[in-house]
Amino acid sequence: MGKGTLARRLVALSPGLVLSRSWTTRAPRPQETESDYHFVTRAEFEAAIGEDAFYEWAEFHGQLYGTPRPDPSDTRRLLLEIDVQGAEQIRAKDPSALVVLVTAPNEEELEARLRGRGDEEEHVRQRLASAGGEIERGRRLCDLEVVNDDLERATTRILSILEGPRR
Ligand code: 5GP
Repeated sequence: MGKGTLARRLVALSPGLVLSRSWTTRAPRPQETESDYHFVTRAEFEAAIGEDAFYEWAEFHGQLYGTPRPDPSDTRRLLLEIDVQGAEQIRAKDPSALVVLVTAPNEEELEARLRGRGDEEEHVRQRLASAGGEIERGRRLCDLEVVNDDLERATTRILSILEGPRR
């Protein structure tokens, strides 16, 4: 189970929570559709940066990813499934944002998940090599770390904080 599954489960269980659809320059994986990402060319992405269309954006392993600016009239809470660079930007803009670090149960599991999506071997190796540093950065930033082993347990933990008295 990946972060995407967890994000979809959170949105399904929490009325008033909506999942942001990111833009990316990465090519779609075989199972992906336009509901997973808005897939664009680098030129299209760069034009959108020029128009200040992103709330945050980052380059991750050679591809650009960004969160489009939310519609200000939409009062629902927005769930962003983004990398640590993006989370740092969000936290700087909105100190009240809840940042959850989602980690794989162990390295073998992480490797199996990255491999299972059909990405090129070199890309999988690069992602495994950078994972440790991303977790360190994430730990410095996050309000909560959730191990992504049991979908229902991870969902319940996040929802209890999201819906708890401090928020
Ligand atoms: P993937 O290519 O595996 O779908 O995503 C690569 C990384 O980019 C993941 O860590 C994912 O969470 C992150 N990501 C997806 N969308 C965004 C976004 O809009 N902004 C940022 N900063 N990261 C994103």
